[in-house]
Amino acid sequence: MQYIILDLEWNQPLSYQSQTYREVGDRLIFEMIQIGAVKLDSGLQIVDSVSLPIAPTHYLRIHPRIRRMTGLDSETLAGAPAFREALEQFAAWCGEDYVLLTWGCDDVSVLWQNISFFHCEDIVLPPLCDIQRLFSDVHQLRDRIGLKAAMEMMQIAPDEARSFHNALNDAWYTALVFRTLPDPAAVLNYAQAPKKLVHTRRSSREKTPGEAFDSVREALESNLVMHPTCPRCGRVLALDGEYIKQSADKYLAVAKCRNHGRILIRLRFRIDDDGKRVLYRSTAPANSTHVAYIHTKQLQLEERRRRWLEEHGSLPDPDEELLRAEPTDMPFES
Ligand SMILES: [Zn+2]
Repeated sequence: MQYIILDLEWNQPLSYQSQTYREVGDRLIFEMIQIGAVKLDSGLQIVDSVSLPIAPTHYLRIHPRIRRMTGLDSETLAGAPAFREALEQFAAWCGEDYVLLTWGCDDVSVLWQNISFFHCEDIVLPPLCDIQRLFSDVHQLRDRIGLKAAMEMMQIAPDEARSFHNALNDAWYTALVFRTLPDPAAVLNYAQAPKKLVHTRRSSREKTPGEAFDSVREALESNLVMHPTCPRCGRVLALDGEYIKQSADKYLAVAKCRNHGRILIRLRFRIDDDGKRVLYRSTAPANSTHVAYIHTKQLQLEERRRRWLEEHGSLPDPDEELLRAEPTDMPFES
């Protein structure tokens, strides 16, 4: 059996008001523009690789962010095969008796959406298994970590000639990380189901613009966090207990407005190009499920802290966790 590690690059609408997006809507949020893959034999030697550019047929102009990251632009892709042809070439290259692997959960959803949108269900591919989740389990990591961070952990130095965010190079690096796993075949237990992608149009929530801080701790002590306001009347709210950490980049709490009842406060961190921690806060009316969930987590908090201290001697550093985490930006349907 061969292992094929796949990585995709995709384009996105320049604007959700664009003519194209208005026509295709959520049926094609991301249009694939490159398939990269490497093939490993059963002894985990890299035996082949492929890079297939794809000419977009809907979002013709490459979003500036994507262009910057991938180095792919409309001119480069103009002569490339369209999606169906590229996928056929890829399936032929895969051959027989292989498993398909990716790093993380995003690619499978984008691939599935493109296959469905372009009516290519007749090109049969096996389920995709997630190396990132196996890696997290093996190393007992609480969050999914990025490919770069995983490489650092395993002391794999990036190759100057192989820039990140190129589908072939990322697949190549993923293969190097994959080979460090004690039981790579265990990845077959991590088959992933695609998730539905949706662009959330109107939100009833209020979201603050990002505010930059030097550290997560500093952000968590700021007014933005400690004194949230009601999205409906603007009144400063009393927090109902502590914030709970959902993942390295997400925190939740409930607060009370005397006129509007319980309000759910969500915090989300991003790291900007200068290494600052940018915090976004969104607030919305809370339902009973939110309240019960947060209450339960708050009750578990003390116990978890106590156990962590026993095991590690100090509490986890939220900044370190955030730097290592790889938060997904994908607009998955919640
Ligand atoms: Zn209110």
